[in-house]
Amino acid sequence: MAKGQFPVDRLQQIQTPFYYYDTELLRQTLRCINAEAQKHEGFVVHYAVKANANPRILRIIREAGFGADCVSGGEIEASVKAGFPAAKIVYAGVGKADWEINLGLDNDIFCFNVESIPELEVINDLAGQKGKVARVAFRLNPNVGAHTHANITTGLAENKFGIAMKDMETVIAEAEKLPNVKFVGLHFHIGSQILDMGDFEALCNRVNELQDQLDRHRIRVEHINVGGGLGIDYGHPNRVPIPDFKAYFDTYARKLKLRPGQTLHFELGRAVVAQCGSLITRTLYIKEGTQKKFAIVDAGFTDLIRPALYQAYHKIENITSEEPIEAYDVVGPICESTDVFAKQTDINGCRRGDLLAIRSAGAYGEIMASQYNLRRLPQGYMSDEI
Ligand SMILES: *Cc1c(COP(=O)(O)O)cnc(C)c1O
Repeated sequence: MAKGQFPVDRLQQIQTPFYYYDTELLRQTLRCINAEAQKHEGFVVHYAVKANANPRILRIIREAGFGADCVSGGEIEASVKAGFPAAKIVYAGVGKADWEINLGLDNDIFCFNVESIPELEVINDLAGQKGKVARVAFRLNPNVGAHTHANITTGLAENKFGIAMKDMETVIAEAEKLPNVKFVGLHFHIGSQILDMGDFEALCNRVNELQDQLDRHRIRVEHINVGGGLGIDYGHPNRVPIPDFKAYFDTYARKLKLRPGQTLHFELGRAVVAQCGSLITRTLYIKEGTQKKFAIVDAGFTDLIRPALYQAYHKIENITSEEPIEAYDVVGPICESTDVFAKQTDINGCRRGDLLAIRSAGAYGEIMASQYNLRRLPQGYMSDEI
């Protein structure tokens, strides 16, 4: 949705700040993912619910046939409610509480992605109490660095995630001994906002080595799950609204050696939903500083925390002005110096009342909103519903 395509008249009627989702772009993105993934036998795509759990977004993604990747009991509940079949729900996370494990067991989810032996033992106990056998995959830490922001790489030995590769056979042997868990897969996830296919290739090479090692011990693995992490073009939401899913899936098809009958699972979050969402905010005041102009808007980091948390860049457009371009610092109302959406960003001349669209905000936006300063949580609106 380029600048001129926002339905400004309708957006003017809604209380700002709010999230606006272009459902047509979301559907196009889902069609592209399905088309590219289905070219390869055994590829199964899950959506990482943590990127955006808006019920209407979840429903559209479920209708496209995706599975759900959850990292909490709340996400399992939201996925079940949105109609994702339990047989397509996977549950990951370093710190699963007993009630969350029980919820997964009660729903007979596809798989628990287990991150330690103590967790495996708890799942075995809880499953035993219910007379069930839980399907488990082990999340291995492949010690592969992703060339992305330090706070969002997860696959290095120093990160808290996963089980060290050298312990792989020990944990599998442990699972074989326990009556109420069944070892079915290996899970990996190396980070987020990854644009260099070389990072995914490095993961493939590591998975191949580990599989060779398991072959030597005649250990069979039903599925491999390579997580998510594909990035998007924050600089060019209009020119590149859909990520290069072809390059992504082709990389895995070329590099990862699946064994006969094995399925390869993906857990894409950001790449599915980021570009379809914008945070719409109203300009409250233009303040002329000594050296620069500030556009003070009614959204803050409580609505979109990525710039404050990761120094993330989001393109900003003034969708109600055709005035000459000027540079502004676009800042929120929260009493924190980090409450800045962009510094010296070029937008059309801005006045009180103008609507700004903070683009590429569909992932890790609405879902990370907080009530700090007792602010209201932003609402989400779909383009086909307003
Ligand atoms: C966050 C996460 C994902 C999704 O990551 P994206 O970068 O949004 O694709 C997938 N799998 C796991 C285990 C995660 O923690």
